[in-house]
Amino acid sequence: MDMLKMLFEGADKNFIIEIIGRTIFMFFLILLILRLSGRRGVRQLTLFEVAIILGLGSAAGDPMFQEEIPVIYSIIVLFSVIVLYKIITFLASKSELVTRIFEGREMVVVENGEFKIDGNKDSDFSQKEFFAELRNKSIEHLGQVRLAVLEIDGTLSILKYPTENIKYGLPLFPGSYKPILSIHEKGPFACMFCGSIQHKLSHKNQTCDNCGKKEWTIAIKTPFIH
Ligand SMILES: [Zn+2]
Repeated sequence: MDMLKMLFEGADKNFIIEIIGRTIFMFFLILLILRLSGRRGVRQLTLFEVAIILGLGSAAGDPMFQEEIPVIYSIIVLFSVIVLYKIITFLASKSELVTRIFEGREMVVVENGEFKIDGNKDSDFSQKEFFAELRNKSIEHLGQVRLAVLEIDGTLSILKYPTENIKYGLPLFPGSYKPILSIHEKGPFACMFCGSIQHKLSHKNQTCDNCGKKEWTIAIKTPFIH
């Protein structure tokens, strides 16, 4: 591969200076537009906001280096997107339905120490993601969790049981989260998918009444460590 050709072929020396000017201008314009959106940061975005950012990104980036795109086109796109954002945000604040269409809605993922699978047809992948989130919040097993809600911006809100009410639950950390080898191990047992608890198993691949999966691990009941 010819590196010089790749880097320089078709480049116009005079336009290079203009690129710098366009980039500086667009950079401050993006900053202004994001300030106008009223958001304070972008750590957590709803899907609607990601869509807005993608729209802004392309409209802001292209005219930085494409001579044939007048910067004014970009300015019009950016202001249109931000006006649209403001209108939809306003409508969403007035109507539950609009919010649900554009932002989705929060979802209960753990209730009474068990992973909730109804209404959530996503497979193993999302379950693994939730378990990772719970581990991040120092939750050692599902028996410590009374309620966990997945918010529309993707964060997880957790209500824990007080220490005296902690139940046997599905361990979330590697080491403890592994299938049993025999039903004669000391139980109770937890379904490795939903966290449903069984005190006795008739065989090691018994079907879970709650979710239909067939893998079990040894449940634990450790207190939450602050
Ligand atoms: Zn299950």
